[in-house]
Amino acid sequence: MKNLPLILSLSSLGIFGLLLSNKKKAKKKYKKGDFDLPVHVEKTYKKRSISKIDTIVIHHTAGSEKDTPKAIAKYHIDVNDWAGIGYHYLIEPSGRFFQTNELETISYHTKSYNTRGVGISLIGNYSLKKPYDKQLIALRHLINLLEKITEKKLKVRGHRELTGTTECPGLLFDLDDFRKKI
Ligand SMILES: [Zn+2]
Repeated sequence: MKNLPLILSLSSLGIFGLLLSNKKKAKKKYKKGDFDLPVHVEKTYKKRSISKIDTIVIHHTAGSEKDTPKAIAKYHIDVNDWAGIGYHYLIEPSGRFFQTNELETISYHTKSYNTRGVGISLIGNYSLKKPYDKQLIALRHLINLLEKITEKKLKVRGHRELTGTTECPGLLFDLDDFRKKI
C-alpha cells in the first residue's frame, strides 16, 4: 500500500505522455503538394533530370478499386512514412488517370529502380481479377506519352519482374501479353 501513490503518479505521467505524443502526431502530417495531393510536412523526395529515366514500372495498389489518389498519398505518408505518394501516375478502373508526382521526382516505388524508373499504378488488386481493358488502354497511352517526353524507347517492366518479393502488379496481369500490344 505504501507504494501506491508512486504507482498512481507514474501511471498519470504515462497518460500525460500519451496525450502529448498524440498531440504531436496530430500536429505533424500533411501540407498541400504538387497535383493537389498531400505531401509530408517535413520530408521531401530528391529530384533527377528526365534524361535519367529509362524504365516504366507497372504496379497495382493491391487495395480497393475505389481508393482515391488522396487516400493513397496519405497511406504512403502515414504508414510507409514517405515524403509523399510513391507513384508518378495512378490509373482508375474507368481508365481515368492522374499524374501524382513530377517526372523529376525520385519517389519510392521499386527498390533499386527509383532513380531511373517511372512508377505507374493501377488502382485495385489484380491478383484477384484481371486489370480492366480501359486501364490497359490508358497505360499504353501513358507509355507512348512518356516515350515522347523522354525521347527514347523505355523498358516496360512489372514490379515483380524487378524484385522477387511481390506479386505486383497482380498475378492476373499478363505482362508479356501486355508488352506485345504496346
Ligand atoms: Zn508495386
